[in-house]
Amino acid sequence: MSLIVQKFGGTSVADAEKIRAAARRAYRAQQQGHQVVMVVSAMGKNTDMLVDLSNQVCDDPPAREMDMLLSTGEQVSVALVAMAIHDLGGKAVSLTGGQIGVRTDSSHTKARIQSISTDRMRRLLDEGNIVIAAGFQGVDNDLNITTLGRGGSDTSAVALAAVLGADMCEIYTDVDGVFTTDPRVVAEARKMSNVSHDEMLELASLGAGVMHSRSIEFGKKFNVPIHVRNSGVFTDEPGSIIGPITESEKRAVSGCALTKEEARITVTGVPDKPGVSLTIFERLAGVNVAVDMILQTAGTDGKADISFTVLESELDRALEAVNDAAAAVGATEVSHEANVSKVSVVGLGMATQTGVADRMFRALAEGEINIEAITTSEIKVSCLVTREQGLEALRAVHSEFELGIAPEGRATFEDSLKAAKKAKDTDALAVVSRLQSMEDLTVHGVQLNDTQALITLTSVPNSPGISADVFEGVAAADIVVDMIVQGIGADGKTNVSFTVPQGDHEKAVAAVKSVIEKLGGTVGSQANIAILSVTGVGIRSHTGVGLRMFRALSQAGINVELVSTSEVKVNVVIEADKGKTGLAALEEAFADVIG
Ligand code: ADP
Ligand code: ASP
Ligand code: MG
Repeated sequence: MSLIVQKFGGTSVADAEKIRAAARRAYRAQQQGHQVVMVVSAMGKNTDMLVDLSNQVCDDPPAREMDMLLSTGEQVSVALVAMAIHDLGGKAVSLTGGQIGVRTDSSHTKARIQSISTDRMRRLLDEGNIVIAAGFQGVDNDLNITTLGRGGSDTSAVALAAVLGADMCEIYTDVDGVFTTDPRVVAEARKMSNVSHDEMLELASLGAGVMHSRSIEFGKKFNVPIHVRNSGVFTDEPGSIIGPITESEKRAVSGCALTKEEARITVTGVPDKPGVSLTIFERLAGVNVAVDMILQTAGTDGKADISFTVLESELDRALEAVNDAAAAVGATEVSHEANVSKVSVVGLGMATQTGVADRMFRALAEGEINIEAITTSEIKVSCLVTREQGLEALRAVHSEFELGIAPEGRATFEDSLKAAKKAKDTDALAVVSRLQSMEDLTVHGVQLNDTQALITLTSVPNSPGISADVFEGVAAADIVVDMIVQGIGADGKTNVSFTVPQGDHEKAVAAVKSVIEKLGGTVGSQANIAILSVTGVGIRSHTGVGLRMFRALSQAGINVELVSTSEVKVNVVIEADKGKTGLAALEEAFADVIG
């Protein structure tokens, strides 16, 4: 018998009528012959309201008590949904995370799932019940209630679908599917009939709030077919499939996203030697803060500046950790800036096509939006802008890449559905063997790329459109740029580093020289560098990966010159002749988790 998981988000169970509609949908699926597990969120804005209440009684509520409080939201809705099903004449049993046996670690308010037992759910299903599971929650080994982080019901749903080997995980929400960007912000946004796991992972972690990014980690690791669709009573339209994607439809840019509430932390006067950035990132990982957009600028006197972004909601925690670290390494100063947003474009085809980054920079320049920092990875380009200009920046890039218009040759909804179901079937056995510690880090491997050269522009006066000029110049010379890291130094000048194939090294130097000739600034380069990468699933949000890399390289006496991160890959640039030693160090450091 087929089994489907149906997840209903907060707005889809916001009042009695919506709860009854959700119940009808699940009951109908059961009557059509499916076993049905529902995963339900707290009603409407209930979780927000509880957070607000907690802040009224305590300035800094203990995380354990937060979980105790927030988990009640889901407990209310599962009971009501079960009642509504009884009212329809159906059989239903509601269960909390603890009753199901959703075991997590003990990191309250952002716990990770370790295992889920299926016995009780299976028994109830076999007895003809609809099982109604409280999303977002679990228990640790001491039976303390834990929650998975805001938006975590998606993760509960996909995880349950994975352990139960569900034929489909339907995510019912208040929009028609996954759009090219948030349709509430950009009117031209278009529903996508399919999105690949890697793109969705990036989009979700870069601000596309429609899915909790960790749910996509499960989707990818366990090949769960995911269908995001509208819970509206009268709509039975197909939504979007999140699943595998065929090679032929790689497109340069599929979607874009905005992380509105970012903050930037800068540590100046850091001694420029191996192990120093390690100390900083170690402290941040220690308090479970994921960092992004890491920029390092080598100074003149053996000192460097390091800056990176964190979510604004984690700024206080991050600052405390960084202040400690800065004192420990003898850095001069820690400063921060909260009023920034990060706009990103994501697409699978970006890795092999030129002209994505420079188009994005030009579109922002034409909108008179100043870029404060840039980082790229294989499938995304992110730019930091002032918060004031965040929305404008998002709209500008959405329109530049014509995301509102459906591209030719895309797979249809039906084809994507078929592909997602097929992937599930072929991998079912392999999945069973991986169900222990479900949310553990998955690393696929480490690689050395020694085919690249590094170009560095320093002290370029910060004029509007400078990045667009530079990368248009490079693209005009037909050079494929790989990593880009751009930032504004403590002196207010722009520094840009990027990698190009070694054969294009001199051509690239010439191209950037002619661009910055009039502006001023210095062009430097290294004809040979080594890029070391670790690939896996969800590796930026697992704060441990970058840390392990830094630690292993530091122990091998290797200095990291550039870093770029994505959910599927972390790259670091090091000196060419350290490539092999670095690779060996990383292979050893990740030996226990390479699957
Ligand atoms: P739920 O309560 O069902 O989990 P959420 O509010 O968490 O719903 O997620 C749905 C919302 O995500 C939509 O209302 C939409 O505003 C927002 N959103 C952000 N980015 C996207 C996107 N790329 N596609 C669709 N919706 C998006
Ligand atoms: N109720 C939780 C929240 O609002 C979980 C969820 O809705 O996914 O964050
Ligand atoms: Mg949600």
